[in-house]
Amino acid sequence: MKYCPLCAHELESIEIDGKPRLSCRSKKCEYVYWNNPTPVIAALVERDDKVVLVRHKTWPKKMFGLVTGFLEEGEAPESGILREVKEELGVEGKLVDFIGYYAFFEMNQLILAFHVQVNGEFVLNEELAEVKIIPPERLRPWAFGTGYAVSDWLKKRTSS
Ligand SMILES: [Zn+2]
Repeated sequence: MKYCPLCAHELESIEIDGKPRLSCRSKKCEYVYWNNPTPVIAALVERDDKVVLVRHKTWPKKMFGLVTGFLEEGEAPESGILREVKEELGVEGKLVDFIGYYAFFEMNQLILAFHVQVNGEFVLNEELAEVKIIPPERLRPWAFGTGYAVSDWLKKRTSS
């Protein structure tokens, strides 16, 4: 980001609260680009006791992940994730529980992960290339982003 979104003056790096922050150069404007992490909602989708992973069209062939998305203005995470599941997979989901929150520093995101149960046939939206349906015992969590939620879900599952 180079210019102030409020007044279009150039931004410069100024130390505020002990960290360099992009701030507006204009004396009349107080804009600071805080770059706060963005919340991302994620669903570990389960259908018939199996986990549903998705691959986006833009992802490499072997890369699968959870259903994820961003919140709409005024939307609670619990309803947002059911909307995302419906949009991406074309089925109604039922919220089972909250798995946990996970800082994804590389992406400057905070992931909120939910366990969502679904029924019925999928109708994939145009963002998705394919889904993979895996029995939980064959699920191998990946060591970044939503993978930690998968790992926690698996641990909780085997301990209960
Ligand atoms: Zn400004």
